[in-house]
Amino acid sequence: MTDKHPPLCRYCGKPIAKKTKSVFFGDQFASQARLHDDMFTYKAERPRSKEEAQRLLNQQIVSVRWARGEEYAAKQAGFDHITHATTWDGESYVDPYFCNGAHAKDFAYLHAKAGAATTTYTAANAKRFAEQQAKKGGQP
Ligand SMILES: [Zn+2]
Repeated sequence: MTDKHPPLCRYCGKPIAKKTKSVFFGDQFASQARLHDDMFTYKAERPRSKEEAQRLLNQQIVSVRWARGEEYAAKQAGFDHITHATTWDGESYVDPYFCNGAHAKDFAYLHAKAGAATTTYTAANAKRFAEQQAKKGGQP
């Protein structure tokens, strides 16, 4: 799988983050299918290499976290293993236009100040203007 270029934020020009999921390994309750949602997955396996983790997942691995040596999870399992992986489907980003909500708002203010408006706003403004003109016309 090859990385396509991420979209750039329409406000600051920085690349927009990949939309990733978290996979937690070595979860004793993984088989009970709790909390398997859009963001998190739990698996009972404890992969000993990135390749092994990759075989267990059908998405590209962005990063992994290990439990090694004297760390609790490694001691408990009796071997070093990957406890967490971040995966990406190879095409999804957190947003198509902006790196965060504040930049979407800043972009909107910038354009509003420059005169941009929606057709709904333009229609409402025209209606109000017409009503004001009608009032003026009604007065002697
Ligand atoms: Zn931005």
